[in-house]
Amino acid sequence: MEELDPLETAQKIDLFNLSQAELETMMKELGQPKFRAKQLWEWIYHHFAAEHEEMTNLPKALREALAEQTQFGDLTPVVTELSSDEHTEKVLFECHDGRLIETVLMRYEKRNTICMSSQAGCAMGCVFCATGQMGFMRHLTVGEMVGQFIYFARKLKAEDARISNVVMMGMGEPLHNYDNTLAAVDRMTDPKGIDLGNRKITISTVGMIPAMKRYADEQRQTPLAVSLHAATDAERTALIPPNKRWPIAELMDACRYTIEKTGRRLTFEWALINGKNDTIEQADKLGALLQGMLCHVNLIPLNPTKGFDGRPSNPERVEAFINKLSDYGVSATVRVRRGIDIQAGCGQLRDRVVNG
Ligand code: SAH
Ligand code: SF4
Repeated sequence: MEELDPLETAQKIDLFNLSQAELETMMKELGQPKFRAKQLWEWIYHHFAAEHEEMTNLPKALREALAEQTQFGDLTPVVTELSSDEHTEKVLFECHDGRLIETVLMRYEKRNTICMSSQAGCAMGCVFCATGQMGFMRHLTVGEMVGQFIYFARKLKAEDARISNVVMMGMGEPLHNYDNTLAAVDRMTDPKGIDLGNRKITISTVGMIPAMKRYADEQRQTPLAVSLHAATDAERTALIPPNKRWPIAELMDACRYTIEKTGRRLTFEWALINGKNDTIEQADKLGALLQGMLCHVNLIPLNPTKGFDGRPSNPERVEAFINKLSDYGVSATVRVRRGIDIQAGCGQLRDRVVNG
């Protein structure tokens, strides 16, 4: 094999990976005073700068030195798809190592939400999920998550708009990549930077109990959504293999613990699969599980994926399911389906343009 020249292949530092303290260290190494780090930080997080030349309050020599060693983000947009109603936009990004990830922007009347990926692929293997069907490649870095945010933040800024909400519901299990995910959340909520409210970010988890406990103990304020999808272990394990390791009774304990520690309402996600988990019997069991808990159920009629032949529940079954839950005092709403025509819906993201 041909020897690679390390200088030629050396990767530039992704500025989105660095904390403010790390930017200070970098500036120190470049022989610069501390305030230069603050200026650079402001260019990154207030102005969403894309090029070093934009940073006109930095000396030219410093800009050049930074341009040689660093870059603003490490994601290359490869394909952009727009839904037919033009409200949903999905971007396929290529990472430096060739891995492909997807991010979705959903425009609503009063908010702009991005659905962010936390991993390339996913190790959890949920049978109805396109990401799960791909298997696990790797965790995303903090910079790769922040980079997804900044890509869309720049785009909206050009329209005088901004990202108002983030859902960690793209590719991957965010709590499997705990440190990087939470560091990215901290970056997005940093009052000196992007300053998005904690409540504007939702982290969706398959129900990794140890990570949920850590989350609760850290008294994190970002709302959690737990993917439940079935109310008995046999049925849940058939859909979500990790249920074998983290069964429902223990998961419910972890949920109660999280609510108690964080003081926050939990959301439960439930993909409604026709004739499978949309029966009155399942609704009864779910009602009994959640009765009295500070929670809300988000129902998602199943989105099609190539590797799973289930169908979404019809509206009558959805309504009956909701009514049954209300008998237990459990509130439930149906998540608006978005971008299904470009496979940008829940569980449809993967590493190629068309599910094929
Ligand atoms: N890994 C995390 C977050 C990503 S998936 C999790 O599993 O919670 C975001 C949500 O979409 C989860 O609730 C997931 O169960 C759901 N989902 C996956 N595949 C789906 C599909 N085909 N149709 C509807 N929802 C799906
Ligand atoms: Fe992973 Fe979530 Fe998909 Fe399950 S539903 S495979 S945890 S991304």
